[in-house]
Amino acid sequence: MDLFEYQGKQLFARYGIPVSAGEPVDTVDQAVAAAERVGYPVVVKAQVQVGGRGKAGGIKLASNEDETRTHAGNILGMDIKGHVVHRVWIEHASDIAEEYYASFTLDRSAKKHLGMLSAQGGVEIEQVAEENPDAISRIHVDPVEGLTEAACREWVLGAHLDANVTDGAVEVLMKLYDAYDKGDCDLVEINPLIVTPDGRVHALDAKVTLDDNARFRHPEWDELQGLEKLDVREREAAEKGLQYVGLDGSVGVIANGAGLAMATCDIVHEVGGRPANFLDIGGGASAQVMADALEVINNDPNVKSIFINIFGGITKGEEVANGIVQALTQVEIASPIVIRLDGTNAEQGREILKSHESERLVSRPTMVEAARSAVELAGSAK
Ligand code: GDP
Ligand code: MN
Repeated sequence: MDLFEYQGKQLFARYGIPVSAGEPVDTVDQAVAAAERVGYPVVVKAQVQVGGRGKAGGIKLASNEDETRTHAGNILGMDIKGHVVHRVWIEHASDIAEEYYASFTLDRSAKKHLGMLSAQGGVEIEQVAEENPDAISRIHVDPVEGLTEAACREWVLGAHLDANVTDGAVEVLMKLYDAYDKGDCDLVEINPLIVTPDGRVHALDAKVTLDDNARFRHPEWDELQGLEKLDVREREAAEKGLQYVGLDGSVGVIANGAGLAMATCDIVHEVGGRPANFLDIGGGASAQVMADALEVINNDPNVKSIFINIFGGITKGEEVANGIVQALTQVEIASPIVIRLDGTNAEQGREILKSHESERLVSRPTMVEAARSAVELAGSAK
């Protein structure tokens, strides 16, 4: 899950990383009130999960109420690279002497964490990497051993920062590693990591991706409202714990396992149709999961037919079939359904489905036949 800048800064603050005082707000009046509390001058910052907000006009300095009103008014509702701004972060403005770059992420090929630090911050790191790769100081951190202060210091010295801030940078980067490691992040990035004219090292921006696999040990993540960027269908599915990606075709797809869901989307394309979504219901295919999946797809007005593609493994065919039948008693489905059921006890499963078959509930023995039927039904529904 990607965090908004203000959420990233709230996480940083918990680990003692210096960030500016600020408040997230959703209206111009709230922005003015927040600026009053935070103290002028302030920076009005668009909260969207995309880089380059500054260049796009989504970050403005305000030194009084009038300017806060103008900038908050302009930025709220602004479209930045396809992301509409619903929230701005008002923070006390900082004076900047230097702009650096710092991040930690996982280097899968090295099986270690990778820290990157550069004295050339403020610009996109990809640009630095391309034009001046030596300007990036790297460190690989063994996840078991962790980051020692000595190793961190060497890393900092390799980045040729202002010599006066070595201690301050080491302190902040040790905390950043802590936030990354203990906070279960996949990525933490500060760009720019600034030095103020009086020599303090301070995070001016925050980009954080949380590791979704660690969600079970972070009940506090539920409050992060990371879902507000999702489309309605994706949010509804996420609330039900389903892996769902909205697409723009007309065949609703339900499959068990991401691999099968991808193959299902491919075969829908192959026979001339377009999937309306990608929905992986995971290994089990219980009645409740199936009902939830059907409900999510049913709410998508673009869906004209539904293709349920299940390969029974540990979950047996008759359980899947019973799940589907039971789900259909729970949810009233607007579109015709085509089922392809295979794998363990497929025969028994198909037998159960047989007594429920109609024009609106069709069972097909193979994926390609089922895909054809689903695409035909979607076409004739127009
Ligand atoms: P991004 O464009 O999405 O990466 O947003 P940032 O938060 O990194 O801000 C972009 C740029 O705005 C920074 O590199 C700074 O130059 C400038 N900026 C942001 N906050 C402040 C501030 O408090 N004071 C000053 N002087 N400049 C700021
Ligand atoms: Mn930035």
